[in-house]
Amino acid sequence: MQLEDKTLTCRECNDPFTWTAGEQLFYRERDLINIPARCPKCRAQRKARLGLPDRAMTEVICAECRQTTTVPFVPRNGNPVYCSMCYDKIKNRIRSGGHLSSTPI
Ligand SMILES: [Zn+2]
Ligand SMILES: [Zn+2]
Repeated sequence: MQLEDKTLTCRECNDPFTWTAGEQLFYRERDLINIPARCPKCRAQRKARLGLPDRAMTEVICAECRQTTTVPFVPRNGNPVYCSMCYDKIKNRIRSGGHLSSTPI
């Protein structure tokens, strides 16, 4: 069957857009049943929105180097928060320290 360009209406901005024969083929090859509901512009915008982190960044002071840093969570009271650099450092320190103490000299 010959595929032809189709004109669809965007659900988001109500602008007409072309669903090209090539795209229709792409959909068919991947067994996609739903036709695109949004124009390429709105699709790109939607994708960009979805790609953004929805968790709020909290500004904290690193318990190790005292520099201001942001973490993707709200720290609980009393828990030390580290910047990513110090966090790695401390993680390694704990790991190697634990290993050493369990090794008899
Ligand atoms: Zn649109
Ligand atoms: Zn730090």
